[in-house]
Amino acid sequence: MRHLLPIASAGIALLVGVFLIFVRTDRREATFFPMGPIPVKVVAFDRTIFQFHRDVETVRSRVDELARIFNRHDPGSELAELNREASTKSVPACPEMRELLELSREWRRKTGGAFDPTVGPLVDVWSEAGEAHELPTAAKLAEVRGRVGLPFVESSADGKIRFSRKGMSLDFGAIAKGAIVDEAAAVLLIRGVRRGLVEAGGDGVAFGPGTFQFGIQDPVAKAGAGIIGTIEAEAGAVVTSGSYERFIEIAGKRFSHIIDPRTGRPAENGIVSATVVGGAAADADALATALMVLPLSESIGLLKEQGAFQALLIRKGDGGAMEIRMSEALSPKVYLERRWAASVQTF
Ligand code: AMP
Ligand code: MG
Repeated sequence: MRHLLPIASAGIALLVGVFLIFVRTDRREATFFPMGPIPVKVVAFDRTIFQFHRDVETVRSRVDELARIFNRHDPGSELAELNREASTKSVPACPEMRELLELSREWRRKTGGAFDPTVGPLVDVWSEAGEAHELPTAAKLAEVRGRVGLPFVESSADGKIRFSRKGMSLDFGAIAKGAIVDEAAAVLLIRGVRRGLVEAGGDGVAFGPGTFQFGIQDPVAKAGAGIIGTIEAEAGAVVTSGSYERFIEIAGKRFSHIIDPRTGRPAENGIVSATVVGGAAADADALATALMVLPLSESIGLLKEQGAFQALLIRKGDGGAMEIRMSEALSPKVYLERRWAASVQTF
């Protein structure tokens, strides 16, 4: 009898395994790291383990592909090659690159130039300044600003891109993550996932029926250390841009990693984090970055114009205390800790 026991327990384990593979559970979640330290989280509802495993693998390979195209700092990426060569000749670009460039033109126009992915050389100047602990000179900034501006990027009908000024550099850091999570969600939809979400370092997009919960990160606490509340949103994007995680410090003063392309200086509009809700994540991503640059009154005007998006802005008030400004339509979807709820004003 005793020797039957291991056989019986192996049988039970097998049954449990088979059950887990074929049963569709409510919610499955996986995280991977295709973009350096930035985690990509995939959530799918009503999938078997087997289906979900394939879902995640398919998403992962597509995200890997896109991350390789758009990583400006990887010398082997298509973007790095474009940045190296487009000042001297027309460079063929893949459809993904052309599409993101055209979307960027739209958002540059809508934001009056507050969002502009040709900001690369300025990003580099300020990052070098941070390392050297020395502010860039006015002359240096003026020189670099002369090679920033999307109108200096020419796209031809045959899919080629050329820079009309030397020393330009496209940096899609403010929009590519959004585009990547949109694409990941599209991959899941094509695979038959009816409800799910994808999130990558502050850029989230959900699809399917019902509502989804997103945390609003505490801009004062250290990265990932806490949330100030949650947003319960329907399908669409929830994207946050913030200056609390990435900044440089020179002579005790903190500078945002987001640059105002029009002045060449780090954004300084008093907003410490901008969360955009609605639409596709690529659009929400570009808009969230612009909200970190524009004066509050202009941001409110822009949001009212762009009806598809709502925003929650955390700003440093005149007295130094943090306060919240948010779209009226967002109020019923936002649950804040009491301390923060007291500071809300809607527009
Ligand atoms: P995000 O976190 O989406 O706001 O993107 C910030 C990143 O976008 C920065 O690290 C830069 O690489 C780039 N960037 C900075 N300022 C701008 C700007 N005004 N427009 C477009 N991209 C920017
Ligand atoms: Mg952005």
